[in-house]
Amino acid sequence: MNMNKFVSQNALMTFAFGSYGAITETMTDAQITTEIMLQLKSIYGNSIPNPTTMLRTKWGVNPHTFGSYSFATTGTTTADFDTLSNSINSKLFFGGEHTNRQYRGTVHGAYLSGQREADKIIALI
Ligand SMILES: Cc1cc2nc3c(=O)[nH]c(=O)nc-3n(C[C@H](O)[C@H](O)[C@H](O)COP(=O)(O)OP(=O)(O)OC[C@H]3O[C@@H](n4cnc5c(N)ncnc54)[C@H](O)[C@@H]3O)c2cc1C
Repeated sequence: MNMNKFVSQNALMTFAFGSYGAITETMTDAQITTEIMLQLKSIYGNSIPNPTTMLRTKWGVNPHTFGSYSFATTGTTTADFDTLSNSINSKLFFGGEHTNRQYRGTVHGAYLSGQREADKIIALI
């Protein structure tokens, strides 16, 4: 993504998903930069300059997050997200973006899932 439109700086942003996301968290900044530059050079040619700075997150190993949001891989179906929302014996309830088949991977999906589970609990009273 070209971040210039949002932060008025010459900055590019990219994402790594699924198992590849976990792999990148084991790589050094230099290894990641090299890999990204390989991709960019295949598009824009070998004369493009290296970045002056590189910033990264490690959501998977960060103890304040332990992950980011769900990733649908080959074979995942929307039914899987329903399964993750199933409560257990009307005693244990599950919210979170990964339980919302319609808006998975979003803040509003997580928010709505909390409302959904609260409604289930209220209905028991
Ligand atoms: C880079 C990035 C950009 C995004 N951009 C957008 C966007 O533009 N729009 C949008 O709608 N959504 C976006 N999202 C997705 C959105 O942030 C998530 O879908 C949403 O925050 C999920 O909320 P949640 O409550 O389900 O989970 P989380 O917010 O991940 O909450 C889960 C909590 O559980 C805690 N936790 C994890 N493991 C344990 C454990 N073992 N014990 C105790 N606590 C634990 C974590 O610390 C975390 O606080 C983005 C996410 C990322 C990472």
